[in-house]
Formats: sequence, structure tokens, C-alpha cells
Amino acid sequence: MDHFLYRDGILHAEDVPVPAIAAAVGTPFYCYSTATLARHFKLFDEALEGTEHLVCFAMKSNSNQAVLKTLAGLGAGMDVVSGGEYARAKAAGVPGDRIVFSGVGKTREEMRAALEGGIRQFNVESEPELIQLSEVASSMGVEAPIAIRVNPDVDAKTHEKIATGKSENKFGIPIARAKEVYAQAAALPGIDVVGIDVHIGSQLTELEPFGLAFEKVAELTEVLRAEGHNIRRLDLGGGLGIPYERSNEAPPLPIEYGQLIKDKVGHLGCEIEIEPGRLISGNAGILVSDVIFVKSGEGRDFLIVDAAMNDLVRPSMYSAHHDIIPVVEPAAGAEQQPYDIVGPVCETGDTFAKQRNMPVLQAGDLIAFRSAGAYGAVMASEYNTRALIPEVLVHEDQFAVIRQRPTFDEMINRDTIPEWL
Ligand SMILES: *Cc1c(COP(=O)(O)O)cnc(C)c1O
Repeated sequence: MDHFLYRDGILHAEDVPVPAIAAAVGTPFYCYSTATLARHFKLFDEALEGTEHLVCFAMKSNSNQAVLKTLAGLGAGMDVVSGGEYARAKAAGVPGDRIVFSGVGKTREEMRAALEGGIRQFNVESEPELIQLSEVASSMGVEAPIAIRVNPDVDAKTHEKIATGKSENKFGIPIARAKEVYAQAAALPGIDVVGIDVHIGSQLTELEPFGLAFEKVAELTEVLRAEGHNIRRLDLGGGLGIPYERSNEAPPLPIEYGQLIKDKVGHLGCEIEIEPGRLISGNAGILVSDVIFVKSGEGRDFLIVDAAMNDLVRPSMYSAHHDIIPVVEPAAGAEQQPYDIVGPVCETGDTFAKQRNMPVLQAGDLIAFRSAGAYGAVMASEYNTRALIPEVLVHEDQFAVIRQRPTFDEMINRDTIPEWL
């Protein structure tokens, strides 16, 4: 459920008519709903009620400062994957003890910054990383709290580019070697082993792979405790999928996911962390775009819109589906026709949908891409020197621009000319 609904025939974001935002900021733009962000965060928080837990928002899905502040204000922690994200989390007022640092390639500088600013835990993904973290922490005279990310070798049954839990993926250490690596960690200076971490992929639409992974983590917890490690925290990652295609998808609900966690690891008495990104931010955002031209081609009609692959890359990168709806609600039984919906970028890959049935549209009509709040703005680029599009946050009947569209001069002046030119 989200808060983008038709009201009196016009798409609204909460209580704000979408055309009013378009008139104020120009198209294309991202629009996020505070109520939807809050609702999705609370679904996870409530699903783990009765268990000591922290929901860490995977901010790589949407790292706008206003989004982070909204979630932090509700008690969310943050899962960060770079020094930049760590700085963003701190800038949004998230205390270090609510920030988890994930990622396969943390640099010494990133480790140092997190140890200085405060960190809940590093999720360590390899032995070289463990050794480097030990060196950095020791040189600073501090201890780095860590969980080791184990790779449980389960098939997440998702898109290959976002599956992370198979042994051939670059993530984590093979679970079969965990005992050895935990022993190594325990012997290293500057390292405090607090738990186990697992994250098997993104956009999972079944619970079964989670269940298999959590069972393996539970077994490992017992094994490591028997070896004398004080395993007190389990980070179970993110990855729960969302219904991108509302007509035919119904992924598991957070409450079912929470129950699965309780069933599989509840008996261990560990504090639970989860790192959902997409399920919190995905359906909390839309991308609003304007039809520039309707072009008739050989046996097909193209809707050429002012958003492009540089603004929302998911369709061209992952062949992802986004529901696309007109901002003006079509009359019941209105005529429909198939369109190829494309952006202006000079690549055939700049195609959002092929032969998508839509009501008949004209130049100047507004459309909205649903489920665009996750892996949308954060993956945008200025390819074709198209400005990064504005982000807008709605709260009840108010809206605010939370990232401005840069001017062409601002974009151009980021380049500098060497003195020999
Ligand atoms: C990407 C990622 C997440 C979030 O995944 P979602 O599918 O957005 O929930 C969580 N943890 C780690 C380590 C990740 O890389």
C-alpha cells in the first residue's frame, strides 16, 4: 500500500495533487511520500516486536538527506556501503551506534572515518578486510565491533545482477570457512566479534531462500558459541521484494518475514538487525514525467517522454518493470492502446516499456512511474548532459523540494580547464 492515489480523477501524493508539484518544479521529478516511508519502516519494526532489534535502512536505495531524516526520526538505523553514505547518515543526525557499515571494498580512510565518528558494527566480507580493519583500529587504539558476512550458498531466485548469496558471488566468506575466519578474528588486536551477517540478494519474492539462509546462520551461531565466541547479534540483511507489477505479483509481507526470522533464529536470544532498502523506499516514490511527443512508427506508436534512462536506469539495466500510469485518471472503460515508452537519450536501451497498454495520451500529458523510490534517484547520472532531476518530499498537504535541479551553468562549471587551454 502507498499514498499515491487518484482523488477526483487526479493522481495525488498524499494530499497534494501531482500536477501542482509539476507546475512548481517542472518535469521530470521524483516525488516521495512521508507517510509511505513511515508506514513501511513501521511494518518491519512491528514485525520484529518482542525481539530486541534494529531496522537499519539500506540507504543505497535512497540516500536523500530528507528521506534519511524522516526515517531516523522514527528510530531507524542505517546500513551504509561507502564513506560517502556514512557521512550522509551522520549529516542526517543518525548516531554512530545506529550505523552498520557493509560492502566488499572498504578503504582504510573509510574505516578510520567510521571508527572516529562512531560505528555500531562493520560487516566484514573477507580476510584481507579483517586484517586491514585490525591494523586501522589498533593504530587508533580502539576496537572495531564486527560481524562477518557469511555467504550461505543459497539461490535467492532473483535477477542475476542483484543475487549475492551464491558461492560464485563476490560477497562474504563461504560459510564452510566461517569457523576458521572467526578464530582468526578473535585472535586479532583491535577486533571485537559481536555477530554474524548475511545478505543474499535483493528483490526476493519468496520466503524460502531467506529461510534456508537463516537456518544456516542459526546453525553457525551454535557452532561459533561452542568455540567460545560471544555471538550476540545477527544481521540478516535486506532484500525483501516489492510488487513492481501490481496486477500479478504479491511478494511476502514484512510480518511474514518477521515471523520467519523469529521461527528460525528466535531461540538464540540474539539481537536482530535487518537492512531493508527497497521495501521501505521503493513504493514510497514515483517518477513524474511529461509526454514530449507521440510518434507513429512502423507498426507501433512511441511515447517520447522527458524522463530517460539516466534518471531511472532500472528498466535498461535490469530489464525491470515499472507500472506507468497517467496522472489524469482515465475514465472507466476508456480506450487503450499499446505504446513503446522511451526517453530522449541516444540509445535504444533508453526504453522504459515496450508495447505497454495505456490510455490514449497526447503531448503535454503527465505520466507517473510507480515504485521509483528505490534505486531511482541514487542511480541517476547526467548522461547526455541531462540535469539530475529534482526530488520532492510530500508530507500530508505540504511538499518541499529536497534536491534542486542544477542549472546548466552549475553542471558545466564543475569541469575545470587546464591552464594550457
Ligand atoms: C543492497 C543491500 C541491502 C538492501 O537490499 P534491498 O533489496 O534494497 O532491501 C541490504 N544489505 C546489503 C548489504 C546490501 O548490499
